[in-house]
Amino acid sequence: MDSGEFRRHGHSLVEWIADYLEHSDRYPVLSRVAPGDLTRALPSHAPERPEPFDGVMDDFERLIVPALTHWNHPGFFGYFATSSSPPAVLAEFLAAALNQNAMLWRTSPAATELESVTLAWLRELMGLPSGFEGVIYDTASTSTLHALAAAREAAVSGVREKGLPGRAGVGTLRVYCSDQAHSSVDKSVILLGLGHEGLCRVPSDNEFRMSAPALRDAIARDRATGVTPVAVVATLGTTSTTSVDPVGEIADICEREGVRLHADGAYAGVAAIIPEIRPRFAGRERADSIVVNPHKWLFVPVDLSACYTRRMDVLRGAFSLVPEYLRTAEGTAGVRNLMDTGVQLGRRFRALKLWMVLRAYGAAGLRATLEEHMRLARLFAGWVDAEPSFERLAPVPFSVACFRAVPAAVPVPELDAFNERLLEAVNASGDVLLSHTRLNGVLTLRLAVGQLRTAEAHVARAWELLRENAARLAGK
Ligand code: PLP
Repeated sequence: MDSGEFRRHGHSLVEWIADYLEHSDRYPVLSRVAPGDLTRALPSHAPERPEPFDGVMDDFERLIVPALTHWNHPGFFGYFATSSSPPAVLAEFLAAALNQNAMLWRTSPAATELESVTLAWLRELMGLPSGFEGVIYDTASTSTLHALAAAREAAVSGVREKGLPGRAGVGTLRVYCSDQAHSSVDKSVILLGLGHEGLCRVPSDNEFRMSAPALRDAIARDRATGVTPVAVVATLGTTSTTSVDPVGEIADICEREGVRLHADGAYAGVAAIIPEIRPRFAGRERADSIVVNPHKWLFVPVDLSACYTRRMDVLRGAFSLVPEYLRTAEGTAGVRNLMDTGVQLGRRFRALKLWMVLRAYGAAGLRATLEEHMRLARLFAGWVDAEPSFERLAPVPFSVACFRAVPAAVPVPELDAFNERLLEAVNASGDVLLSHTRLNGVLTLRLAVGQLRTAEAHVARAWELLRENAARLAGK
């Protein structure tokens, strides 16, 4: 592709993207293809000869677009709704063009230093103390893995050199989190060689927050049998209900026990840019590390997770390994090389999109959008509360509502199956996408507001579809 062709296709692609972002609601939110449809429609071999890009774009529209689930649709209310904002799209375009590989400072001074500056901005916006230093990973799962690897490094002497298997004096190691914590904590302990049994899931209270007394008891029981506590993961905004663990009480226990504390604020952590929200997270500043995901609720497209730690030296101790060919004068002189604080060597220029989003919206713009999302979730919760054939199943601390339909005509034992059918019917409309969870054994519907383009009319449409379909399925 010569530069003339690149210009031509680039211009029309920008037109396509602008139109898509403006009218993403013209597509069904959930893709309607069946498993294997796309694979069957595509050739099984790469082309031997170059193909004209116009044809590639035609196939993109004809084959790829129907197989997209539209996270940019304003009716996307599933999981945690995320957005790619126009400034971030432009940043990704640039990042691909620049192809920075920020393994060393010298291989990209810009990506290395912009990451530090942008994460310091975000840290300040969230009201975290300056002792927290940040590093960008792809996802919260990776952030938590690195934080727990640092915890293991601190808890088990010589783990880096000697590993774990067969070591005298290294018994069972334990990580603690609530029964509501994200499955990435399970994956971390598995990967770190602690075994899945190395994770203790502490019961939560009636608002799905970790019970601090139960944590204290679990650690005491473990200590009595020679188990070594390694870390506690407190969640600031759980995946199902966005509940916030009592991180201050948990920090008291961790400090008393000499156990590291990691806070998982993947979704709700960024809400701390609103000063009035911060008291809900009181104690997070005592955590050793904290993860927040701008790619969840800060209008940066997947992927960008920000991991902050008060002990970057421990993280570096766990991961730094410099082969001769990557030795540099700056690295020896103490300049930060990003390869030293993570498992990956090559890393892309993620900070650019966060920098552009922070500048394009400003803190005030971001706060206003988050506040509007929370208002919409509360509004929806109010409609649920006022409708006798529905019930709310959890508080709404941020922008997610948990609820189910409870029509009088449906016997209680059949409510799970009824709500599954309701979810399927509502999602089949193409106008909205909701997802589900299970709370206290009950199938629960979730409406998660978080899409940049979601307005009150979209939430109202979701409610209309829920009510209409519930009435129809209940046989009214
Ligand atoms: N932590 C929490 C609380 C989450 O809700 C999620 C995903 O929804 C994750 C971690 C994992 O996020 P990621 O997809 O960035 O790994």
